[in-house]
Parts: sequence; structure tokens; C-alpha cells
Amino acid sequence: MATVVLPDPSLVLLVGAAGSGKSTFAARHFGADEVLSSDAMRARLSGDEADQRVSRAAFAIIDDMLERRMQAGLLTVIDATNADRRHRRSLLDRAEAVNVPAVALVLALPTRTVLERNAGRTRRVDEQVVRRHLARVRAALLPEGLAAEGYATIWVGRSPEEIDGVTIERVRTR
Ligand code: GDP
Ligand code: MG
Repeated sequence: MATVVLPDPSLVLLVGAAGSGKSTFAARHFGADEVLSSDAMRARLSGDEADQRVSRAAFAIIDDMLERRMQAGLLTVIDATNADRRHRRSLLDRAEAVNVPAVALVLALPTRTVLERNAGRTRRVDEQVVRRHLARVRAALLPEGLAAEGYATIWVGRSPEEIDGVTIERVRTR
């Protein structure tokens, strides 16, 4: 089974559609303090993790927290779809500004699996929205996507078995 080596500190971007298992993965492999979640931040601001009206404010707070954590040399995980290139860019810029490497961990499960998981949840995301996420994640896996954005490491999990089996190893770099 695969081992992913993470420089510590680093900026870790989880990339995956709603329902692909990002929050589950984050809880399994990282400490709660290390994870900045867009859903959790929206819930804090509005009582509803899906409330898009507070999305901009949620990301502004996440950006600020990320910047402070990067300056403090703390590994930080962004639990958001991260399927949009411009959004990834602005996160990476904050890490690059203080010479912290970035890592992308992509949860690229088959469309059917993600739609089934989404359908089975209490807070169900509109299927068209999930399909749009999935298309963007696929685009991110093309050569001109993540591979061209400057990550120290990119890992892609394409099946539940692969994602279940991965081991995360940290290497202190400072
Ligand atoms: P997110 O929207 O990407 O944060 O996805 P979640 O972590 O919330 O997971 C979406 C749904 O898939 C939830 O109902 C989880 O319980 C389920 N799920 C997440 N990871 C796994 C997994 O490894 N195996 C199985 N069978 N279900 C999972
Ligand atoms: Mg989540």
C-alpha cells in the first residue's frame, strides 16, 4: 500500500467532490487543530454548513488562519473541494510566501461511488453540483492541472481500497 510523505510543515490541499470523503480522510489522518474546513466555517458563521451566502466570509477567515499557521510553521490541511484552480492558487501563494511546500491529496473516486455516498447523506448536495465538482477534479488531474501548479507531492486515490490503504508519514523539515 502507498505511503505519502508529507513535509512538515506543509500546506495540504484535499481535492475532491462533495461526498468523496475529504472530511473523513482529514479526521483519520490529521489533528482537529490542523484542519481548516470550509463546511465547518460556514456552519460557525451561519449555523448551516451549506449556506453559500457566508462562503466568501468563511474563506476569508480560512485564508487568514492559513496565513498565520504558515507563518508559525504549522502543517495545515484545507478541507474544501479545492477543485477550482484560482482558489488553489490563492492558497498556494500564502504558503509560497513563507517557503512552505504544498501537497495535493486527491480523492478521485468513480462518479457512481461519489453520487451514491452523497445520496446516502443527511445533508445531500445537489447532484448537478457534485457532477460539476467531479468534472473539475478530473480536469485537475490533466497534465496542465495540479501537475503544473507547483506541488511538492501529488497523491491521487482512485478507489476506496486505495484511499483506505494509504499511510501518511511526516518528515520534519524545520
Ligand atoms: P466530503 O464531502 O468530501 O467531506 O466527504 P465525507 O468525508 O463527508 O464523506 C461522504 C460520505 O461518504 C459520508 O457519508 C461518509 O461516511 C462516507 N465515507 C467517507 N469515507 C468513506 C470510506 O472510506 N468508505 C465508505 N464506505 N464510506 C466513506
Ligand atoms: Mg466534508
